[in-house]
Amino acid sequence: MLRHLLQRTLERSTSICSRWIISKKMNSQSQLLERNPKEIVDCVVIGAGVVGIAVARELALRGRDVLVIESAPTFGTGTSSRNSEVIHAGLYYPPNSLKAVFCVRGRRLLYNYCSSRGVPHKQIGKLIVATGSADIQKLNVLLERGTENGVEGLRIMEGFEAMRMEPELQCLKALLSPSSGIVDTHSLMLSLLGEAENHGATFSYNTTVISGHLEGDDIHIHVSETKNIEKCIGGCQPQPELTLIPNLVVNCAGLSAPYIAKRFNGIDNGVIPTSYYARGSYFTLSNTMSYPFRHLIYPIPEDGGLGVHVTLELDGHVKFGPDVEWVGELDYISTFLNKFDYSVCANRAEKFYPEIRRYYPNLKDGSLEPGYAGIRPKLSGPGKSPVDFVIQGEDIHGVRGLVNLFGIESPGLTSSMAIAEDIAFKFAG
Ligand SMILES: Cc1cc2nc3c(=O)[nH]c(=O)nc-3n(C[C@H](O)[C@H](O)[C@H](O)COP(=O)(O)OP(=O)(O)OC[C@H]3O[C@@H](n4cnc5c(N)ncnc54)[C@H](O)[C@@H]3O)c2cc1C
Repeated sequence: MLRHLLQRTLERSTSICSRWIISKKMNSQSQLLERNPKEIVDCVVIGAGVVGIAVARELALRGRDVLVIESAPTFGTGTSSRNSEVIHAGLYYPPNSLKAVFCVRGRRLLYNYCSSRGVPHKQIGKLIVATGSADIQKLNVLLERGTENGVEGLRIMEGFEAMRMEPELQCLKALLSPSSGIVDTHSLMLSLLGEAENHGATFSYNTTVISGHLEGDDIHIHVSETKNIEKCIGGCQPQPELTLIPNLVVNCAGLSAPYIAKRFNGIDNGVIPTSYYARGSYFTLSNTMSYPFRHLIYPIPEDGGLGVHVTLELDGHVKFGPDVEWVGELDYISTFLNKFDYSVCANRAEKFYPEIRRYYPNLKDGSLEPGYAGIRPKLSGPGKSPVDFVIQGEDIHGVRGLVNLFGIESPGLTSSMAIAEDIAFKFAG
């Protein structure tokens, strides 16, 4: 893919060569960088997950020339394909937080987009259930919070009413969220990506951003072919093969975003938040001829996540999860290459059964099968309060034209189009 980028450079060499920047003061690193081909580009988006793709589309629709750099062989192989695929209503997040604002706005944008573009989705609604008396007050807090966030149609139901809607459910009370739903994330990304490409965006796969620096006011982004980065796992320093000189860079690298920012010479590391990683595993329901639920069923949120809930796939299949398992960080190269351990240990089912049986007592022994896992890019650790999304521009880190997105955990999928809209509005004129 780097060849493709170089070809792009050659095709546009007249304009590009004339703007190559010759550094006056050269040390050995800059000499190395100086030898690399350089390409002036308008906008670089780092990462082709749902957020990066939505940002690329939004910028391209506004007439910007966009290049998306993705380390994997295709789009959406990170957290964007390892989540519950739930369109959240926006009731969990503190009023006026980015999570609340983007979730509510993003949900509306997403439903409109999916309806107009034929992206498979269903607004099936959600029941958040109180299974013990201590939970009831928490439902009231969620109701107040959701109402303040502008979530439509929220209503507390008595247990019998909820159990009439869902005969397999057991609960004392429930909060009905009719605007929650599910979406086929892959189709969504494909549709957004197609539109971005139709408006001139280029996606460069198998290409990894390894670092960056500032020359005067110009941002230099160092990229390399992923296959060459792979050789550096556990050993050598990756060498840049091409330098991109963009007007705007949007760092949407998910789990890797903080590492990319740390490897950008010119940002004060003090502004980069500490990262934490929380794996969430899913189990699927097997040995069943019929599916027990028609709505999303969520317990009261737990530390680090929303609780082991029932998520439905568009064909009605049921999965349970994700739980919360704090995992350590990897070295930066392994992170760029998404070498996280996504295996689901069958033993974890032992913890799932009692949690699920609190609201689904008929769950049969032996009916849970390991599914898949995702890793949450978190900005607060075990036992700490959740932290909001972080979107940093020049006002925070001092680099004109650089936007960093950190901690884009749930509801990042729901929020993706609203985040993109906001970034384009604030940073791309
Ligand atoms: C278990 C779980 C359940 C979730 N459930 C929901 C839900 O139901 N609803 C909801 O709204 N949200 C949910 N989320 C959150 C949602 O999945 C994420 O917020 C969203 O997918 C983030 O998208 P992204 O584009 O920021 O990141 P990613 O999808 O991780 O994309 C980042 C991309 O950057 C690439 N990359 C990394 N390093 C580099 C580099 N150096 N150079 C080039 N490319 C690089 C990666 O390969 C990757 O493709 C969930 C998350 C988890 C973990």
